[in-house]
Amino acid sequence: AAKSDADSSYRFYDPKIQDSRAERRAIEGALKTALDNREFELFYQPILDLATNRMWGCEALVRWKHATKGMIPPLQFIPTAEESGLIAPIGDWILEEACVTAMTWDRPLKVAVNLSPVQFKRRDVFASVTKALNLSGLPAHRLVLEITESVKLNDEATAALRRLKTLGVGISLDDFGTGYASMSYLRSFPFDKIKIDQSFVRGMMDSAGSRAIIKATIGLANDLKMSTTAEGVETHEQLNALRLAGASQAQGYLIAKPMPREALAAFMAEVEGLQKPARAIA
Ligand code: C2E
Ligand code: MG
Ligand code: MG
Ligand code: MG
Repeated sequence: AAKSDADSSYRFYDPKIQDSRAERRAIEGALKTALDNREFELFYQPILDLATNRMWGCEALVRWKHATKGMIPPLQFIPTAEESGLIAPIGDWILEEACVTAMTWDRPLKVAVNLSPVQFKRRDVFASVTKALNLSGLPAHRLVLEITESVKLNDEATAALRRLKTLGVGISLDDFGTGYASMSYLRSFPFDKIKIDQSFVRGMMDSAGSRAIIKATIGLANDLKMSTTAEGVETHEQLNALRLAGASQAQGYLIAKPMPREALAAFMAEVEGLQKPARAIA
């Protein structure tokens, strides 16, 4: 059967499909090499706490520093890493690197790490998180795991989340409002935080609809004893409106772009020196 399948795929040879398959295999090989050669790097994006006007912590965002292609953003390689299963070792490296880096900060800020649904579905995600915490010595309450609605929240998944929570780590629901099951998600698991997707923030000054959704999400989160982070904040107008609406935290280019760990140290020192979170916020 395998042979006739091969024959028929030969007969209906589509150069486009063939190319993309070959391309994917090439990326897979390159990802393996990248892991061995330590070509991945985490950038850190500061998140502002709106109640205190101080830094809450940072979200770790992976980049691939390719030898010839330069900096490759996550959306261009995470899907291939997920399909090939390489997301497991890459994800373990990300967890460890983020925890180790957070331990070097001169104040106990939180570090948020994105978990791929593939990584999350593996039974050893608990072991991966425990290992990263033990290896780094980071107190569990400083680690926050971000998952999206692409994780199917069945009984097994909610059990895994509950088990992770017993460690003391925080769990955030990322990109809220863009998936298929936002409301049932909130009923399935007591998330610590809802991250309001940047698409709503982007539209909020022009669209009453976006503002209504943001307002309702914050109200819902408050009633459910969850905090909220607004993503993609780029203007003072957005920040002020989000403050008034009662968002707990803000993240976006207005506060700071994602930056390498060395730059973050300088950013934090500067912020502390000003006794204000950031010059952009004053
Ligand atoms: P996300 O977790 O929702 O991360 C936020 C994304 O929004 C980041 O893109 C960030 O650079 C971008 N962003 C932040 N502020 C602004 C803003 O003011 N304006 C605009 N236009 N964009 C802003 P990035 O780093 O390209 O990451 C994209 C996505 O890739 C992430 O979305 C996340 O889903 C995934 N990702 C990133 N790092 C990791 C990782 O370490 N592991 C996994 N599994 N996924 C990751
Ligand atoms: Mg995220
Ligand atoms: Mg997001
Ligand atoms: Mg996103």
